Amino acid sequence: MSRVAVVGAGTMGNGIAHVFAQHGWETTLIDVAPGLLERVLATIRTNFERQVKKGTVTAEQRDAALARIRTSTTLDPVAHAELVVEAATEQPDVKFKIFRDLDRLAPPAAILASNTSSISITTIAAQTQRPPQVVGMHFMNPVPVMPLVEVIRGLETSDKTVGEVVEVAKALGKTPVEVNDAPGFVSNRVLMPMINEAIFCVMEGVATPDAIDTVMKLGMNHPVGPLALADLIGLDVCLAILEVLHHDLGDDKYRPAPLLRTMVAAGRLGRKSGRGFYVYRD
Ligand code: NAD
Repeated sequence: MSRVAVVGAGTMGNGIAHVFAQHGWETTLIDVAPGLLERVLATIRTNFERQVKKGTVTAEQRDAALARIRTSTTLDPVAHAELVVEAATEQPDVKFKIFRDLDRLAPPAAILASNTSSISITTIAAQTQRPPQVVGMHFMNPVPVMPLVEVIRGLETSDKTVGEVVEVAKALGKTPVEVNDAPGFVSNRVLMPMINEAIFCVMEGVATPDAIDTVMKLGMNHPVGPLALADLIGLDVCLAILEVLHHDLGDDKYRPAPLLRTMVAAGRLGRKSGRGFYVYRD
């Protein structure tokens, strides 16, 4: 395989496109938001520049990778893709519609992967006529830096599809870990309750965000505190994942903290909006 389409060019989509292009794939990045794609290409260029400065990528590799990225505001280019990685907004209806369209437009042999953090791969696959070729390919943020890809097997996902996606992840220099389809998979089933509890601590005045993050960094050896991590992920994304955990597992221990809802309602989404638990100036 050498041709990929990435659907959704937000926080994750731009990193996923970056990594595929870096590893030689003809990459088409697709988003419906007007004007976004130009900004995203500039971000990808800046991120490659950082790698060149660090010496992990040469200037020639950067130029070749950037030349491999095309953009589109429609799904039509998926007609040429062997693999599609969907990284659109974490809302079930948005993803279901995209997968119905992808099933219609992508070649019959193409694999359709979702980068969803929590939505059932089995349910996404059921929107298509090709459930054996639908799989979760859950990259971590920031994608060019983080080594893990959680590979999620839906109820109908074939061994062949899982095997191929595992090989793709390895070829991208990542470490794939296979997990079964369950709300939040492993990563967010374990991570989100910790972030949510940290938000409850802020809400109840137990400590400041900085104090909570410092406790977790210095006391538990976490490289980033849970609130800084929530800002990086996006508070709207955290809320969407907690809603899925709460609804699908039916246990109130996953109830999103009211402060999280309030911050999302106010547009304090973390890094991407310039303000979350911390303020970001760039
Ligand atoms: P984001 O809000 O930054 O970006 C989502 C993008 O999808 C937006 O640019 C939006 O315009 C686009 N979009 C919406 N509908 C679309 C459509 N019909 N066609 C094409 N594009 C469409 O979100 P994100 O943080 O990049 O998350 C994307 C996915 O990755 C979600 O499923 C999320 O759960 C998952 N994820 C996020 C993180 C994280 O740290 N943010 C980590 C792992 C996985």
